[in-house]
Amino acid sequence: MSQPYDVIVVGARCAGSPTAMLLARKGYRVLVVDRARFPSDTVSTHVVHPLGVAALARWGLLERLAATGCPPVRTYAFDFGPFAITGAPGTADAPVAYCPRRTILDKLLVDAAAEAGAEVREDFIVEQLLMEDGRVVGIAGHAKGGETVRERARVVVGADGRHSLVAEAVRAEPYHTKPPLLCGYYSYWSGIPMDGRFETYIRLHRGFAAAPTHDDLTLIIAGWPYAEFETNKKDIEGHFLKAIELAPAFADRLRGGRREARIAGAAVPNFFRRPYGPGWALVGDAGYNKDPITAQGILDSFRDAELCATALDATFTAARRFDDAMADYQRTRDAQVLPMYELTTQLATLEPPPPEMQQLLGAIHGNQAAMDGFVRMNAGTTSPAEFLSPANIGAIMAAAQGAP
Ligand SMILES: Cc1cc2nc3c(=O)[nH]c(=O)nc-3n(C[C@H](O)[C@H](O)[C@H](O)COP(=O)(O)OP(=O)(O)OC[C@H]3O[C@@H](n4cnc5c(N)ncnc54)[C@H](O)[C@@H]3O)c2cc1C
Repeated sequence: MSQPYDVIVVGARCAGSPTAMLLARKGYRVLVVDRARFPSDTVSTHVVHPLGVAALARWGLLERLAATGCPPVRTYAFDFGPFAITGAPGTADAPVAYCPRRTILDKLLVDAAAEAGAEVREDFIVEQLLMEDGRVVGIAGHAKGGETVRERARVVVGADGRHSLVAEAVRAEPYHTKPPLLCGYYSYWSGIPMDGRFETYIRLHRGFAAAPTHDDLTLIIAGWPYAEFETNKKDIEGHFLKAIELAPAFADRLRGGRREARIAGAAVPNFFRRPYGPGWALVGDAGYNKDPITAQGILDSFRDAELCATALDATFTAARRFDDAMADYQRTRDAQVLPMYELTTQLATLEPPPPEMQQLLGAIHGNQAAMDGFVRMNAGTTSPAEFLSPANIGAIMAAAQGAP
């Protein structure tokens, strides 16, 4: 066994690499491991909303992302059939989103962790956690084809995704759980210019979205209720194309393009997990997982990385007790994401909006300030608690009725 680390991070994608990078930048001795080798893909689409882009800018990584040729996304459009709500997703400081391939984004993040001084071990599989007196003290794992090695740390951070081995080993308590609600399938097309737009189409029990990504390709994801998972899986492509036909103008655009990759997909459960305990912490999907319909996962992973790294730093410098700092991490995370979790799991049912929401959508349409607000809520820029507050709804309804 080598010298102990301050932190071992299990998982090196959107949550793990930024956590490792931020702690290494503070001078801590960090080991980050992943069974994957980078660049590599993962089953996930990859819209990074403006606040996620703002995190990349804070970390000094945005220029690198822009230099990869990924087109910025300036406009989001939500098409409900009879009308569309179109607006700007960001703020003056963070105006654009990006939709970078995970092969490129995740590699950029792993490299940034290594540059910051974290030791990165790819192709390394964690088999179990080392425990002493009820406390996590390290990991046991092996490089592909190698012998089992043990490494110790003051804290092990599970950034190992929704099937987290770390969460399972420490029996991290789940809460607010909901079953899978939707199955989403996606692929990449050439010949479908998006002109800097992220377009979402909402129909009864169907939804699909399109965004521009690297190499002049367009990412398109379509979904249906999880109740149809078994019956539809025999002909995923057929059901995918039928969903797109529900928006004939977009279906025409699709016919003008060419699919360049296989169709991939997933359905995921919805849950929070307690994200800390003696010697361990969770970030990203390992600690909070939700349906991808609102594309919040990468943004949430970035936020967790910052909150968790700040809390661990406060502990290591003895400024705060571990339990106090980490309880704050959990409270802040939950307060920031809970309203979006409720909205996400409601949207993921693909049921028609309730009558009062339909009225509100009608009132938002055509009012550019309200349309920007609606788009910013869906981008996670503004909390649903704020946009759907009685005062804001009242103002939008009054404006629609021509109140001065
Ligand atoms: C279909 C779909 C579409 C999505 N679309 C979007 C979107 O458009 N925008 C968005 O923001 N989010 C989207 N998400 C969510 C997003 O993919 C996740 O929130 C994000 O990937 C979470 O990052 P993470 O680092 O927590 O976990 P992951 O990306 O799952 O990474 C976990 C890493 O841990 C490693 N690992 C796991 N176990 C071990 C082990 N025992 N030993 C070593 N390594 C291990 C894995 O190899 C993996 O690399 C989507 C998800 C799905 C399923």
